[in-house]
Amino acid sequence: MIRGILDGAAALLGYGASSETAPLDFSSTEIVVLPANAGPDEPVTVCFFWPGSKEVLTKMPGYPQPLRTVSKPTFRVGEAGSKGLGLFAARALGQGELIIDERPLLISVRGVPVAVPIWYSQEQTTKYQLKEFEKYLEVVLKEMRPADRDAFMSLANSHTTDGSGPIAGRIRTNSIGLDGLCPEMSGPMAQYSSVPHFISRMNNRHVFLSCCPNTSTNFHDASISYTIYAARDIAEGEELTLAYSDVWDTAANRQQTFKPYGFVCACDACLDPVNSDARRAKIRSFVPTVQLWAVNRSLPDDWLINKCLEQMALLEQEKLEGEAQYHAAINAIMEAYICLGNSPKVRHWAARARKCPWAANIETLDVLIALKSHSRHPLWRMRVDDKPKGEMASQLKRLAALAGGTDNGRGLIMFAGA
Ligand SMILES: [Zn+2]
Repeated sequence: MIRGILDGAAALLGYGASSETAPLDFSSTEIVVLPANAGPDEPVTVCFFWPGSKEVLTKMPGYPQPLRTVSKPTFRVGEAGSKGLGLFAARALGQGELIIDERPLLISVRGVPVAVPIWYSQEQTTKYQLKEFEKYLEVVLKEMRPADRDAFMSLANSHTTDGSGPIAGRIRTNSIGLDGLCPEMSGPMAQYSSVPHFISRMNNRHVFLSCCPNTSTNFHDASISYTIYAARDIAEGEELTLAYSDVWDTAANRQQTFKPYGFVCACDACLDPVNSDARRAKIRSFVPTVQLWAVNRSLPDDWLINKCLEQMALLEQEKLEGEAQYHAAINAIMEAYICLGNSPKVRHWAARARKCPWAANIETLDVLIALKSHSRHPLWRMRVDDKPKGEMASQLKRLAALAGGTDNGRGLIMFAGA
């Protein structure tokens, strides 16, 4: 998932912006260009790293994974009135279509580069630190390819009067927080800011953020890149929007989150908070558990499928197709049909789940789509057969017992009232 999208404006000094925090030792930082073996036409990322991060990242499974390709141009950069530059669909995009796979121009440490005199005020401290940080960033930017440097410097800078240098100002304006880039590390050394070129156009000043985003974004360690997929069908010319921190929070809380950034969200969900909050709470209260339904004969055969269809409808109404719950509902319907022994329906819903590539296991779905029969699947006819067999059956019995059900003596679980 995308991490800390809102961090951009404040992330630069997110750690150690108070005099109580010990300054970090910037002398141990390093500048690396990744992937190291990239050809001249392959995009690269200049990384301003804490020691050890390069080793962690380059040992990720699959590293260095090439960027995923997009067949026809999917977006254009355009003016959005007073909002400034944003990204727009260059053509009609289908749900699940890859819009961009982009390596950030820069991944940078956050933090306080040097100790400051103890008598400095908070304002003096911040200005001094920003000035010192800029000196490091100037060296970092020298490692960028000239075209990348031009792209970086063409980004908006809304921090021109607070002591930020031109590089730090652009990071503060455009960056996306990359928290947990190196999971083994903790504290400030696990916190990075990233500046992609095109995706920054959506993050810039938060005007393309929405609680009903039409795209779904992930960061992939192995390819060092952000993917953006169409979360639902998008019309040609439509603005592309990103989600921010937590779309499951209430509308009132979301607006509070935005307050420090001077942004008031006017998405459909924020304009209708009472109904939207209720729908979002309802979505979160349901987690499809296929195996429990499969062995619970007190529920109708179509119970789970209907619940998941209802869940999908709510998610579509809330325009949250890019959330994991949407894929989970589709996947549960697919598995329910495996339990019912209906292979044509399994193939249909596997193809449907494939339209959520941000959450789906594409390889597994492709196998399910290609198979004529799914009789070797562990869930096959679990709902139909009188006696589920093997390891799966005993696992289910244990699971059902934990949920308060009892074995009816035939390997099936009956719940109270059944
Ligand atoms: Zn909103």
